[in-house]
Amino acid sequence: MLYFSLNNSRHRVSFQEAVNRGLAPDKGLYFPESIPKLSRRIIHNLSEYEIHELAFQVIYPYVQNTFSKEVLRGIIEKTLNFPFPLISIDEDIHSLELFHGPTLAFKDVGAAFMAGCLGHFQEKNSAPVTVLVATSGDTGGAVARGFYKVPKVKVVILYPSGKVSELQEKQLTTLGGNIETLEIEGNFDDCQNLVKCAFLDKELQKKRSLTSANSINVARWLPQMFYYFIAYRSLMEKSSDKKIIFSVPSGNFGNLCAGILAAQMGLPIEHFVASTNSNDTIPRFMENGVYEPKTARTTLSNAMDVADPSNFVRILELYPDFKDLQNSMSAYRFTDPQTIEAIQNIWKDKAYMLDPHGAVGYLGLQRYLKRKNQEPSALGVFLETAHPVKFIDKIPEELRKEIIMPDALKDLMKKHKKAKKLSKDYENFRSYLLDTR
Ligand SMILES: *Cc1c(COP(=O)(O)O)cnc(C)c1O
Repeated sequence: MLYFSLNNSRHRVSFQEAVNRGLAPDKGLYFPESIPKLSRRIIHNLSEYEIHELAFQVIYPYVQNTFSKEVLRGIIEKTLNFPFPLISIDEDIHSLELFHGPTLAFKDVGAAFMAGCLGHFQEKNSAPVTVLVATSGDTGGAVARGFYKVPKVKVVILYPSGKVSELQEKQLTTLGGNIETLEIEGNFDDCQNLVKCAFLDKELQKKRSLTSANSINVARWLPQMFYYFIAYRSLMEKSSDKKIIFSVPSGNFGNLCAGILAAQMGLPIEHFVASTNSNDTIPRFMENGVYEPKTARTTLSNAMDVADPSNFVRILELYPDFKDLQNSMSAYRFTDPQTIEAIQNIWKDKAYMLDPHGAVGYLGLQRYLKRKNQEPSALGVFLETAHPVKFIDKIPEELRKEIIMPDALKDLMKKHKKAKKLSKDYENFRSYLLDTR
């Protein structure tokens, strides 16, 4: 399988090169040259496949000229080493909990898979490589955790001082080892700017080999297909013959885009719901076909505060025809007050605690199922992308005491922060990278 740039289909590279580059030289996102179809034998007997074997069947065609089967199995085992429970909220509504990984959010899956890939590439490379990540909170933690102790890989994380939650800061700053953390006196854009400057700095890169673990990287995107298959497999075990709808709380649209890819490989998903907060570029696009990003707004579900979702071009590649896209995907936006109300209601009625992102996913699913209630045979799954404790400060005061703190977090909160403070000045950052090679 080769990958082409969405800006130029003649530029084709191997999986390894697509992972190492992240983005094509013409700034296009990489896309697989064909979409493999899973055999009907697998699709109809999902529940007979053990989860690691199922994941292997799904991703092997995308990487087969890069990894041996054994290596790939090893990477999958390290990636899917926590549960993905499907919790029934209502007869027809299920929460797919993606937050049981080390940093309590779904990004752990993509980050761990990418770390496995890069770790393997590095086995044959004598020079160490440095992964640079600017983070507004969540991504940095997942990447740090994924790459922790991977030989010949160093990670340098930049986060804006005072702008991440206490929990996020602990996740970013307490690992040590091959993870170095820089607390930047500036905002997220300043952090991103430093990383961009470093990637443009040819002199620097002669001395220190740099790579990125950006969310558009194919090694982070593709493994997100796994949990759609895992959820479907759990639903099969309940031996239901209802049509299945997935609602995905979306920001950069990588997660949803992986679901659509899974469907095009043959997973019989009836419909997708793209649920957003008031950053509603896609809901507006679905109404009128005009793609018109506005400036990003800050909301309670802040991991989805994206005005110009980078993965949406991949969705358009999967659905070149607008009518097809409309038939396969609906998009709804929800405000912060609606999000809070959903968290309160679901707690009151079902004793289930949503985080603000999951709440947006829940609302989208509920709206779609209501609109479609002439068709009562649909069964809905929303992706619960983060543990509620991660966003505890966003949840109404009276509910906070109801959130059960996972044991791993209690230990984390006792650890000591190790971070170096730096100004947002590029020369300082550059010297840091040269001095700590
Ligand atoms: C990143 C993130 C999202 C958005 O996912 P995309 O793939 O960017 O659409 C949703 N919820 C949480 C908790 C996240 O961290």
